[in-house]
Amino acid sequence: MRSSHSYSKRELLDSCLRQFFYEYYAAAKKLPFDPERKAVIRELKEFTGVYLLAGEKLHWFIEQYLKKGMTSQLWAEHTCLAAFDLAVNYSRDPEGNAGLRDAKYPPPMLLEFYYGDPRAEELAGKAREALRGGIQRFLANGPIKGLWTEIKAGEHFVEQRVGGLPKFDGFGIEGQIDLVGRDSSRVRVVDWKLGRNGESHDSLQMLIYGLWAEKKFQVDPTSVTARRVFLGDGTLEAEHALDRAQMAVGRARLLQDIELMKELDPYGRAGIEEAFSPCHRQNECRQCKYQGICPDNQSGLAPRQTSVSLTVLPSRV
Ligand code: SF4
Repeated sequence: MRSSHSYSKRELLDSCLRQFFYEYYAAAKKLPFDPERKAVIRELKEFTGVYLLAGEKLHWFIEQYLKKGMTSQLWAEHTCLAAFDLAVNYSRDPEGNAGLRDAKYPPPMLLEFYYGDPRAEELAGKAREALRGGIQRFLANGPIKGLWTEIKAGEHFVEQRVGGLPKFDGFGIEGQIDLVGRDSSRVRVVDWKLGRNGESHDSLQMLIYGLWAEKKFQVDPTSVTARRVFLGDGTLEAEHALDRAQMAVGRARLLQDIELMKELDPYGRAGIEEAFSPCHRQNECRQCKYQGICPDNQSGLAPRQTSVSLTVLPSRV
């Protein structure tokens, strides 16, 4: 595993260390692990969930629209909804649609269908509606449209990769910022969310915005403000300014994550699955790509049997 910290690593460190092991160690070609299970894990790594896919497509739509302008709207909207529908159709019947795997952009398998979640159809329908509604709110909700129109009129960056930041304890920081605008007094960050208004601001994410702005524009990190736009219900959050106290909390959190990754690294490199505690939480397991391979899975679901070699799981562990 690369010595880096990213939001996706952080999410897995928080939710389930075992899943972290499968994603970053067991799936790696060069690291030791039971070859039969490794082959399956490498296939499972490509799976996604209906809400993750809808969120990814919504970000893609917004990126296209902001970069290419309104003439791209119909094309981008059609393309992202069609890609979502294709993944659902494929996942409903991977054997009948086996030819799609040879397509230029093969659809991903959706884990809710693969693992026979009884709510798969319902969840897929809701995720599609969230995607469709999210696009509409982005385009037509007055305050939301006002925000991106104003930012787009000035110096701005869309889907900006975070790179080149100073290392923390030997670890680089990776990330992506959805939309950034800069004017004479501040750097404004916008974070699109598929869901509805809920959690508080993430101090680590705020720290990363601040460090990136400092490097990119040579400004004080406290000139950064961030706001999240919840496209699931059209909530435009109040602007939130980064302050020194929040930076200190973010730094502490980052160093804790890095310490944990360093501690676990030798076990991961040696392929010792048991060193990574399973979460034992049904909700978490139901959204986990690796539930079919994890001996501590609590999802209560069983993978559908398929006659194609998509992912022929070894006998249930
Ligand atoms: S099935 Fe559950 S315990 Fe196992 S890796 Fe996934 S989330 Fe963790």
